[in-house]
Amino acid sequence: MHTHILPAKFPRWAEVFGYGDFIHLEHHRKGFARMMQGDRFFREIASNCWDAQERIDEYAKFQTQVQVVCTIPVMFSYWAKPADALAVSEFLNDDLAELQVKYPKNYVGLGTVPMQDTDLAIQELRRCKEIGLKGIQIGSNINNKNLSEPEFFPIFEAAEELGMCIMIHPWNMMGKKDMEKYWLPWLVGMPAETSRAICSLIFSGVLERLPNLRFNFSHASGSFLATIGRVEHGYNCRPDLVAIDNPINPREYLGKFWVDSITHDDKMLKYVLDMVGSEKVSLGTDYPFPLGDLEIGKFITEAGLSDQVVDDIFCNSALSWLDMKKEDFL
Ligand SMILES: [Zn+2]
Repeated sequence: MHTHILPAKFPRWAEVFGYGDFIHLEHHRKGFARMMQGDRFFREIASNCWDAQERIDEYAKFQTQVQVVCTIPVMFSYWAKPADALAVSEFLNDDLAELQVKYPKNYVGLGTVPMQDTDLAIQELRRCKEIGLKGIQIGSNINNKNLSEPEFFPIFEAAEELGMCIMIHPWNMMGKKDMEKYWLPWLVGMPAETSRAICSLIFSGVLERLPNLRFNFSHASGSFLATIGRVEHGYNCRPDLVAIDNPINPREYLGKFWVDSITHDDKMLKYVLDMVGSEKVSLGTDYPFPLGDLEIGKFITEAGLSDQVVDDIFCNSALSWLDMKKEDFL
């Protein structure tokens, strides 16, 4: 789970809608494209970002058959007019659904929904289910609002009711403007964003009220698991600040949500396994981006883990999170 994909081509939405810094692609040389945000260069991507067969071939080198795919967070368009973000979401989600139909043994899609509008988000979430997607990916914050805000609860409630899983991806990093140097938004901001999302969902009682909603947090929960002692201590020493909406100790939620394995460190992976259990740690890659685990699973097979634990990480955990079976891919 946790890989990113884009359609090979998509509309220049800024022209279609008449405003905004929507992403568009410039296929400027063979095998590569520039992601442009308005007139600004955002990132160069290679054909393995959109070429389904090339991705399957690259994965096969690491004995990996299935990719859980979702869009790149910069495509969320939460900042746009809701109806326009819905149109972008529909386009991206239809592309994922087609991919699943074409390669049912190789791809599982997670959709995107316009989180800035509760009703439209639920409408598109329902449609995602209808077109065969297994869940959605959402950002760690929505236009700087925390996931604890009441306006998001009906979306989570609908996801639980529909049996759609949710992947939380860090983005729109806090403090970004103050720490552009040294890639700090990615190295410091992203892990903090994911912890922000988990703490918001725990302290607001979302995890308590929706026990059957299956969340998976990117990058092994960011900084959350590494700071659970501090988070719990804060809950104990200042319940007047922390436990105002949910009286339950945050540690009680370990093992109730999923995380991916993207740690780049076997000691940290073992700690994460200790904290949440191998059945809740699923192989993530962040493929095809350079900060991902692009030697897919290599450090996991070399970490001296039991066959059962490796099997959980490589497939059982993701299958239970998606509510799918091995047989679906045989
Ligand atoms: Zn990612």
